[in-house]
Amino acid sequence: MTERIAVVTGGSRGIGRAIALRLAQDGAKVIITYVRGKEAADEVIETIKSNGGEAFAYQFDVSDYEATQTAFANILDKFGKVDYLINNAGITRDALLMRMKEEDWDKVVTVNLKGAFNCIKAVVRPMLKQKFGRIVNITSVVAFMGNVGQANYVASKAGLVGLTKALAKELAPKGVTVNAVAPGFIETDMTAGLPEKIKEYMLSLIPLGRFGQPEEVAEVVAFLVSDKAAYITGQVIHVNGGMYI
Ligand code: NDP
Repeated sequence: MTERIAVVTGGSRGIGRAIALRLAQDGAKVIITYVRGKEAADEVIETIKSNGGEAFAYQFDVSDYEATQTAFANILDKFGKVDYLINNAGITRDALLMRMKEEDWDKVVTVNLKGAFNCIKAVVRPMLKQKFGRIVNITSVVAFMGNVGQANYVASKAGLVGLTKALAKELAPKGVTVNAVAPGFIETDMTAGLPEKIKEYMLSLIPLGRFGQPEEVAEVVAFLVSDKAAYITGQVIHVNGGMYI
């Protein structure tokens, strides 16, 4: 990689953190974004720097259109370009639909799906102009399987799959690829709080017999942004231990 600039949304923890570290390992200059956890973001920056890489953190809420445009304008101003955009920031607000509040629907769809739109809007013109770009959207296995209590989350993640496919067709003529990665059950803060019974049930669905690690998702993202993946666009790569086949 020659001086690639990567933006990883939600790069302060979990899967985003692992992606940030992995892309830095390949020589990319990495910009992570976060919304609340400055300490966690600082730790990622320090870890990348101590490994000889370059990293920066920006704080903004991806669901806020104006704040996102402003942050990316600053990033483009400072770094001159964005080569890789990894739309990883995501949240859950689980409840059965019968009990799901309107605000829980809005919040999840706005962060997970509109957040990706907001970030893509901010980089699409410069990527088309430089005739190069890699966009990777982090969706989920549940976009394909469904999941009880996650209608909002599943809808947002299925939406990301549609967005990936439509955008891949739009941007391909200018050398910009758009793909998605669909993790299964990965050990992060997002899954740590789930009740043991649910975890046991999830484990019983995984043929490989274990949960996934953030680094195993990061590896696929690193491949998708690399030159070796230049002929791959509009695809969803599943990383789920066989949970969905
Ligand atoms: P975590 O909860 O561990 O981390 C979420 C990250 O997103 C944090 O860096 C957080 O920042 C950031 N974030 C949350 N809300 C916003 C927002 N509004 N604006 C900007 N950043 C935000 O999640 P995971 O690492 O587990 O998940 C990462 C992605 O992978 C998500 O999209 C998730 O849906 C998806 N995924 C996860 C799976 C899993 O099993 N863990 C399975 C399938 C998909 P801060 O720390 O500041 O809050």
